[in-house]
Amino acid sequence: MRRGIGLLAMFVLLVVLMAQTLRWYASQSTPAVEPVIVGRAETLVLDAGHGGEDGGAVSLSGVPESQINLAIVQEMDDLFGLYGIAPVLLRDEDVSLHDDDAVTLREKKVSDLKNRVKAIEAVDRAVLLSIHQNTFSDGRYHGAQAFYGLEEGSRQLAASIQNAIQMTIQPDNTRKEKQIPDSVYLMNHISCPAVLVECGFLTNPEEEAKLLDSSYQKKLAAVLVAAWLNYEA
Ligand SMILES: [Zn+2]
Repeated sequence: MRRGIGLLAMFVLLVVLMAQTLRWYASQSTPAVEPVIVGRAETLVLDAGHGGEDGGAVSLSGVPESQINLAIVQEMDDLFGLYGIAPVLLRDEDVSLHDDDAVTLREKKVSDLKNRVKAIEAVDRAVLLSIHQNTFSDGRYHGAQAFYGLEEGSRQLAASIQNAIQMTIQPDNTRKEKQIPDSVYLMNHISCPAVLVECGFLTNPEEEAKLLDSSYQKKLAAVLVAAWLNYEA
């Protein structure tokens, strides 16, 4: 465990150093009269999927994915703080973001998603990272997968995330980043680069145990942060 965290910390540090070096080279080759644009100045929006009455998928032992999604997003927010980055969190507690006039669960879900779209669209130069957990009828399936939206940059961020996860915490994961199906409302109704990460399968006993473990959630968060820093570099 100690060694794993040490390696991960080194990986994160390496990514940060790489990003800084690339920025330095970029600044050196820019003529002095031109303004130097450091990074892409995008604002990361973190979406902990579901929340409140909508728990999303449920793990083998009965834990809703909404709780796991929130725990990972909060860990990411803490880590970003160390780098002086302040992402926008769509939710920071176990709530649904529906309007007061939504009554049925269906109405609340629809209202919640529309409000998430509105909140994302209100952010200038937003990039969305939506955190979810997967399930499947066959318990053998495991491994994270990053799904990218239609806007430019989405696929690159998804690839950065898929690679970072495979290089660190899931070396036996052979999945590839994939385009988001058009049935996913949120990802298909926003105009910014976006990636939805299914962090793992709550229906696989070993992976469920990991996803419920706070130290694994922390590692996952660190890998996602590193992947973002790598993408932004
Ligand atoms: Zn979900």
